[in-house]
Amino acid sequence: MMGTLRLILADQLSASIATLQGLNKAKDTVLICEVMEEATYVPHHVKKIAFLFSAMRHFAAELESKGVRLRYVKLDDANNTGGFTSELKRATKELRPDKIVVTEPGEYRVLSMMKSWETALGVPVEILPDTRFFATHTEFDGWAKNKKQLRMEFFYREMRKKYSLLMEPDGKPTGGEWNYDKENRKPPKAGMKSPPRITHKKSEITKDVLKLVRERFSHHFGTLEPFHYAITRDQAILELDHFITHVLPSFGDYQDAMVAGEPYLFHSLVSSYLNAGLLLPMEICQKAEAAYRQGHAPLNAVEGFIRQILGWREFIRGIYWHFMPDYGERNGLHATRPLPDFYWTAQTHMFCVAETVRHTRDHAYSHHIQRLMITGNFALLAGLDVKQVQAWYLAVYSDAYEWVEMPNTLGMALFGDGGVVASKPYAASGKYIHRMSNYCEQCKYDPDEMTGENACPFNALYWDFLVRHEDVFRGNQRMPYVFSTWDKFGQDKQKAIRAQATLTLQKMTEGQL
Ligand SMILES: Cc1cc2nc3c(=O)[nH]c(=O)nc-3n(C[C@H](O)[C@H](O)[C@H](O)COP(=O)(O)OP(=O)(O)OC[C@H]3O[C@@H](n4cnc5c(N)ncnc54)[C@H](O)[C@@H]3O)c2cc1C
Ligand code: SF4
Repeated sequence: MMGTLRLILADQLSASIATLQGLNKAKDTVLICEVMEEATYVPHHVKKIAFLFSAMRHFAAELESKGVRLRYVKLDDANNTGGFTSELKRATKELRPDKIVVTEPGEYRVLSMMKSWETALGVPVEILPDTRFFATHTEFDGWAKNKKQLRMEFFYREMRKKYSLLMEPDGKPTGGEWNYDKENRKPPKAGMKSPPRITHKKSEITKDVLKLVRERFSHHFGTLEPFHYAITRDQAILELDHFITHVLPSFGDYQDAMVAGEPYLFHSLVSSYLNAGLLLPMEICQKAEAAYRQGHAPLNAVEGFIRQILGWREFIRGIYWHFMPDYGERNGLHATRPLPDFYWTAQTHMFCVAETVRHTRDHAYSHHIQRLMITGNFALLAGLDVKQVQAWYLAVYSDAYEWVEMPNTLGMALFGDGGVVASKPYAASGKYIHRMSNYCEQCKYDPDEMTGENACPFNALYWDFLVRHEDVFRGNQRMPYVFSTWDKFGQDKQKAIRAQATLTLQKMTEGQL
């Protein structure tokens, strides 16, 4: 008689995952499967698939080396049925477990699937909470209850206090302020380069996986090689330590900067490892805080970095589970224009967009400001279909899972959730991109022109967007001067701007932008 069947998902590769607690090596079996259904429900970037399959196989090998009984189903195993439910059916029939244990997933879709398993399989199914986050669902829901507006900043302060991160013994925040963001908006310096990053040698497992991905997913978006991702916890820790030592001190200053040919700048690149479970949020925050306490990194960098993980990441997760499933159906600004091909091909004269798509294609990565203020901003201004834009973000980034992708895309970038995540739209003209990057120097378009053949498309689209949604934004307290500027333009200029925007959208549809 067998014990418990313990299912581990691709983003649950942590030794501390709830599923493995209380494991009986003599009786239990751990099930890990590479299933086609999950690899293809959006056309994931080839690097994302390779990273996850390789990390899953390494994680399985580590468990096996500790004497854990494993049932690992590879994508190309002859009997692989291609889905979680059917694989569990097969395993249940063969192993006859007393019960199935699993940790809650990162997607509502998979949670619904899990809830159907007990009936479908005729075996008790225990769904455990994911304890790798700082805030539980109940805690977030309690915080959100009866609040008119949910603001990350206030949630973040609660988390700082609860976990004593960057806090002083008298209960005050370290340095006297909760947030040093105003110091973190420097434009790039001329010739600025990212510090060198470490790369990892490919193991035999990774080589096998790369071959599999080449054979089965070559029609998906993205460049597979060179492939330098960390795929074990040890390698992910090396990356984290490298970041803390060599990169973190400048993280704050240049957090919003963008430079051609430099996809990483001073960002940590930990999201893929963190989201898959190779790293844990607390250890990252503690290492960052230690760097400040030892005088190695300044407070604006360390507070800014910790805020991303302790504040933003947890807030975003809270929003997702608090508002799903209704959240996924929102389209507050009625954005329905089809996603143009250049999101996949990078074939556009807009240098900023082409460069972001190139980084995304080559690395399954682009940093936050590229995601928000380039591809996100364009999608917002052009009114691109929210579902298509979300599917793109979910597919192309190696750190993308719906719980984190959806509120960032629909809420933060597209203002499509009715202002839950963002209190005003992250809409910007070419002027902002020009200030924060060196992209415009290499562009066919001119960021200082509003109309005419060479005018930066972001400029007219920016105004057209605001005027199209005047009913939503004119009364917004955080945008006091925007409409008074528009009003001062006078009718002729306003007409010319709107005509330019119409032409721009037409060119986009015709593939001429
Ligand atoms: C439209 C859009 C889509 C996004 N989709 C994803 C996604 O699918 N997965 C994902 O992990 N992040 C997503 N983000 C958030 C953010 O862009 C990435 O976490 C970050 O770029 C990852 O790179 P990094 O590890 O170098 O981050 P750093 O800039 O070094 O930041 C450190 C860490 O903070 C966390 N973090 C920072 N900002 C956010 C945020 N807004 N939400 C959640 N965590 C945050 C991440 O874990 C990140 O690793 C998205 C942002 C936007 C605007
Ligand atoms: S000019 Fe406009 S389109 Fe070109 S890089 Fe600058 S912001 Fe982007």
